[in-house]
Amino acid sequence: MKKQDITDIKTLLQSPKKIVIVPHKNPDGDAIGSTLGLYLYLLKYHHEVRVIAPNDYPDFLKWMPSEATVLKYDTQTEASETLIQQAEIIFTLDFNALNRTGDMEPALAKSEAIKIMIDHHQQPDDYALYTYSDVSMSSTCEMVYHFIDMLADANKIDADIATCLYTGIMTDTGSFRFSSTTATTHKVIADLIDKGAENAEIHNAIYDTNSYNRLQLLGCTLSNLKVLPEYRTAYITLSQQELNNFDYKKGDTEGFVNYALSLQNIIFAAIFIEDQKQNIIKISLRSKGDFSVNEFSRAHFSGGGHTNAAGGKSDTDLNETIEKFISILPSYKKALNNE
Ligand code: 5GP
Ligand code: MN
Repeated sequence: MKKQDITDIKTLLQSPKKIVIVPHKNPDGDAIGSTLGLYLYLLKYHHEVRVIAPNDYPDFLKWMPSEATVLKYDTQTEASETLIQQAEIIFTLDFNALNRTGDMEPALAKSEAIKIMIDHHQQPDDYALYTYSDVSMSSTCEMVYHFIDMLADANKIDADIATCLYTGIMTDTGSFRFSSTTATTHKVIADLIDKGAENAEIHNAIYDTNSYNRLQLLGCTLSNLKVLPEYRTAYITLSQQELNNFDYKKGDTEGFVNYALSLQNIIFAAIFIEDQKQNIIKISLRSKGDFSVNEFSRAHFSGGGHTNAAGGKSDTDLNETIEKFISILPSYKKALNNE
């Protein structure tokens, strides 16, 4: 972010403002952690501030500080619309294009509020007056830490803010193991622990709240795993029926795709999950090294994300989607084997 932008934003935030903070649809740990971390920071300046999520998120995020204040646009539309209309500043966090907010997009596009983007996804759109985009960052939570630091307010990060930011860095880095984790990430994490983030407790709250059904669903997922060694690719399917068999709850499939990527010699992994309600197949893609699942998803599955983690969707049924996926792979054979 430019020095002048920081100076301007600092001036802007000197007097109380009406502020809305928005994460992407189907928010994850980084989206909820970064929005709540920024929310708690802005409260210290007596702004009227609210986090509005496009829709609900998994229960394993619902212990986070001030989480109960988050509005959900899809079920609290009227209250959300009013706040968006009245907002003087709208922060958009952890996404790069307004359509990532789903049904909230028109309200956000119409708003005349000053927009500030903080995000680490590739190819950011140009809708914000101030754009803090850095695709080399581990997470938006790490960026919110740097943002507060650039505003010369690192000393305002208290235990609750530290807890929120720690959570998103942890979830977006696969607990500090993905290549996006840098020495700076670890320094930020160390400072967040110093400021009161209880690392072991946070880890427990996110990862050790499995239901019996979720573990059984994982068993089903692993038995559906298919390997295509000539493309160094592995993929998993989950039908709606299989989800129903194990009483699927939002978030239950989080991280499942990583099991496919953990196979020896596999550098490209995908999971295809049937969603009969939305009538789509939701796709998560992961890779190792230079093979860009962001490019792959943009080209074939109307999605995007990062080089090594992206999402997308398909409007055809599960079988056809898999057929399409397999038919595309030959054109990537070289890229997949040149790693
Ligand atoms: P996931 O597979 O966990 O849903 O998403 C992986 C990454 O890709 C996340 O950073 C997520 O924000 C991003 N992502 C997921 N779905 C989409 C999509 O449809 N479009 C874009 N641009 N990014 C996505
Ligand atoms: Mn993120």
